[in-house]
Amino acid sequence: MAAKYDAIVIGSGLGGSVCAALLAKKGMKTLLLEKNNQPGGKSMGISVKGFRGELWPTYGIPMEGGPFVEAFQQLGIESKLDVIPGSTAMMYRRKGEAWTTMVDAPGVKVDDPSANLFDSWGLDGEERVECIKVLAEIAFFTPEQLDELDDISVKDWIARRGDIPKPIQTFLATHSNLMATGVYETVAMSEIARVMQAFSGRTAGYPRGGYGRIINDVLDVFKAEGGELLTKAKVERITVEEGRVTGVSTKDKVFKAPIVVSNGGIQPTVLKLVGEEHFDKSYVGYVKDMPPSLGFTCIRYLFNKPVMEHGLYVATTEDSFLDVERVEKMRDGIIPDEIALDGVVASHFDPEMAPEGKQMLLLGTWCTPDPAGKETGVLHKKIDELFAEMFPDAVPYIESREGFVGPAEVSSLTRDQVLPGVGGEAAGSAVTVGYCGKHKPNPKSPLPGLFFVGHDAGGGGYLATNQAVCSGINVAPLVHFYWLERRSVIRI
Ligand SMILES: Cc1cc2nc3c(=O)[nH]c(=O)nc-3n(C[C@H](O)[C@H](O)[C@H](O)COP(=O)(O)OP(=O)(O)OC[C@H]3O[C@@H](n4cnc5c(N)ncnc54)[C@H](O)[C@@H]3O)c2cc1C
Repeated sequence: MAAKYDAIVIGSGLGGSVCAALLAKKGMKTLLLEKNNQPGGKSMGISVKGFRGELWPTYGIPMEGGPFVEAFQQLGIESKLDVIPGSTAMMYRRKGEAWTTMVDAPGVKVDDPSANLFDSWGLDGEERVECIKVLAEIAFFTPEQLDELDDISVKDWIARRGDIPKPIQTFLATHSNLMATGVYETVAMSEIARVMQAFSGRTAGYPRGGYGRIINDVLDVFKAEGGELLTKAKVERITVEEGRVTGVSTKDKVFKAPIVVSNGGIQPTVLKLVGEEHFDKSYVGYVKDMPPSLGFTCIRYLFNKPVMEHGLYVATTEDSFLDVERVEKMRDGIIPDEIALDGVVASHFDPEMAPEGKQMLLLGTWCTPDPAGKETGVLHKKIDELFAEMFPDAVPYIESREGFVGPAEVSSLTRDQVLPGVGGEAAGSAVTVGYCGKHKPNPKSPLPGLFFVGHDAGGGGYLATNQAVCSGINVAPLVHFYWLERRSVIRI
């Protein structure tokens, strides 16, 4: 006899875990199936040689407000969310010049927060005024203006607005990579404007115990509320009878439920787990056309001395942003001369994350989401070269360089590849014009009983992890309502 549940959630990424815990808290008998041997998906915690952290640099929980705080409040564990602020080094280089570093430290009040940034960009007085005007315009977009910007890319907005100083154009192109994990020709202007507004004037931080602890705290509530979590349980099929979902099957088990919520990505869910034949052609076309976010690849540097001063490192140049052309070239293994770097030192925030006297830096850059991409080896070499150039004093203290991960590992640990060239998305899908804001994919699929949760649907307007949590918060009440509605119909 197959075990029966009110709802089955496939995948324990941030979106799936938050949604499952909220469903269990609402009294639904919920099963959470995770294919890996531990929960967390892209935010899973790892432990290696006494260091703790993530598989790749992950950062950016606002200290106040935002989806993490809301999720923890709704789950009744608000006091457990402990986000630690730390210093950030923004490194910048103009062509032919040396690196400049702007340090942003929490609690240090500056009269003009943009002054440091503009200093590091080397701007003169007139350029500064123009840049301030544009940044202020973005900071004060109204909700109506933001809705309208769902329909225009960052690049097209730059052209339409006109008179945007070059450094701000570069800044916006760079932030399309950083904040939306996409390229400025296709990322919706609303997406990065919303993220910029969400962080405006707020310090962000890193969670005590890492993102793995967040997942564990959420899943503790799930289990305490009667939820059942099975790891090493890869769902192979979502079963459908008479046009509605009836459950899922793994390699050796069948589980029954009238509701399945998938955190495994919209494309793999529709095209592989359910099968195209259960949807109409136009929906299948819509799903297939959904553009992926960029991928990300990184190296883990372990140091036998605490050599890195800051918690977050973001290094960019005038020319280090990825655009459509550079991504296309990367697909052929040709990488740009300049690349951007993003790195996190978890023990800067929480000393417990590293053995005493040691440090771990996760440092990487953006790439294609192709699990079979040819660029990662070349990018790792470039990351090493840049690291040595920027932090020569740290090089002698490298104990080991390891953990070379990229889209192939991201895909195998999270969403399955179902279409050529995609699967290793660092954030997920739906960051581009046509799939953002009011156009974000509907988390309630056209197949009765099937819902999506996670970065792809149901959230939006925040940095990726926050977006996944936001989705969990938004999708749970939809599922709950569907369940109540269905129960009352069946009783009648
Ligand atoms: C390299 C990298 C760097 C990042 N850096 C940042 C950062 O600095 N800041 C930030 O905010 N975000 C960052 N992100 C993005 C962020 O981690 C993700 O957007 C977010 O965690 C996605 O959560 P999710 O809920 O969509 O699901 P995912 O994390 O994708 O989880 C999906 C889960 O579903 C499971 N699953 C899939 N298919 C099946 C199946 N068939 N059966 C059972 N289980 C299944 C997977 O194993 C996985 O656990 C980064 C991501 C990567 C990869």
